Amino acid sequence: MSDRFIGTYDVAVCGGGFAGISAALAAARQGKRVVLLEKQYLLGGLGTAGLITIFLPLCDGYGRQVSFGLAEELLRLSVKYGAEDKYPENWLDGVGTRTEKDKRYEVQYNAQLFALLAEQLLLDSGVEILYGSYVVDAEVEAGKITRLYVENKSGRGEVFANSVVDATGDCDIAHFAGAPTDTFRQGNLLAAWYYYTDGDGYKLQMQGASDTPEREKTGREQTPLVARRFGGLDGRELSEMTCLSHQKILEGWLKKRKSSPEAVISTVATIPQIRMTRKIVGEYELSYTEEHTPFEDSVGMVSNWKRRGPVYEVPFRTLYSKQVKNLICAGRCTSVDETLWDVMRVIPCCAVTGQAAGTAAAMTDDFSTLDVARLQEVLRQSGVVLHERDLPREGATSKANA
Ligand SMILES: Cc1cc2nc3c(=O)[nH]c(=O)nc-3n(C[C@H](O)[C@H](O)[C@H](O)COP(=O)(O)OP(=O)(O)OC[C@H]3O[C@@H](n4cnc5c(N)ncnc54)[C@H](O)[C@@H]3O)c2cc1C
Repeated sequence: MSDRFIGTYDVAVCGGGFAGISAALAAARQGKRVVLLEKQYLLGGLGTAGLITIFLPLCDGYGRQVSFGLAEELLRLSVKYGAEDKYPENWLDGVGTRTEKDKRYEVQYNAQLFALLAEQLLLDSGVEILYGSYVVDAEVEAGKITRLYVENKSGRGEVFANSVVDATGDCDIAHFAGAPTDTFRQGNLLAAWYYYTDGDGYKLQMQGASDTPEREKTGREQTPLVARRFGGLDGRELSEMTCLSHQKILEGWLKKRKSSPEAVISTVATIPQIRMTRKIVGEYELSYTEEHTPFEDSVGMVSNWKRRGPVYEVPFRTLYSKQVKNLICAGRCTSVDETLWDVMRVIPCCAVTGQAAGTAAAMTDDFSTLDVARLQEVLRQSGVVLHERDLPREGATSKANA
């Protein structure tokens, strides 16, 4: 029996985290017919269902905004009705113009509200959202994805699209399509973030260290929750990881309850809190040491959430491999070296690469032949600043205060 026909689109975006939201919006704003395929029934990925609600900085830490376009639009959307925490005074009326030396443009937002607002934005832009839709395979002919296999409540079906954005976070589509990928060999530490409510309100409890060498250098101890590390690409392992995370939440809450008996667990994550899993081996691999390096094919800039100072221009070539011509990656699965991966995986960077990928996907079904100057022009018109040389000099690149 042949698979059910779901639809034909200009652009299929797989995954509805921050990268997928940005890609779908960007493509739809170019007037294209876009479908967003998301296996959950909520947008935002780790940034909502995963309870990772800290929108890390758009700025370099010296008062210069470096990420623009949808990164800024989504940051503003996330705090449209107020922030939970970390709300630098006056940035909202002056992002990009202030030169605050000691405050970075980061906020803590409400996950559920953001998911609803993002959904509204996508629907208003004409994106078709297919929730509960797991992309399980891709068929490739003559170097292009010709159909995506999708499973949802209706059974198994087929989606046809000129170009495909892989915003699954795990590079699932590239893997299915046989594009070159690489995995995070070191493995992830366990995280067990949850929300609780006590007499003072709704609060985020962050549990579980991250691999942050800069902090380690300061001597502050980072104790892992468990000795084990997780690759994040094995179904059984992810379930074990989730159970361990739940146990740690329970332990943490029972301990907390001793000192604040009114504390109750409010929300636990409904997707695994995993940082890095699989990424594309693109036409270029951006490395940690390439801060302040100009790239003529830059599609936007990001800063380093761990360290004030560095600015990275993101080359278009980090988003695709020539081996699958109509596939482009965005979010935490772009082509960067192992050290930069921990920098590029965060929310603002996902929005930057998502916008670039979605815009490009609206323009071509062969990324290696796309006229990058034309892509850059569209990105510029959408508010993206592409090069560090186009930023105000103020704030500079000095690491003196880092
Ligand atoms: C413990 C932890 C702490 C973190 N702390 C921060 C922080 O403080 N600030 C910050 O900015 N970032 C932080 N991050 C990183 C950040 O949250 C994520 O890397 C980022 O949100 C990833 O966005 P994404 O869109 O690339 O991927 P994801 O958020 O993973 O979204 C991928 C989406 O695709 C869907 N999907 C996956 N596979 C398929 C498929 N085959 N078919 C259909 N749908 C699919 C998923 O359901 C998901 O919705 C943290 C991450 C972790 C784990």
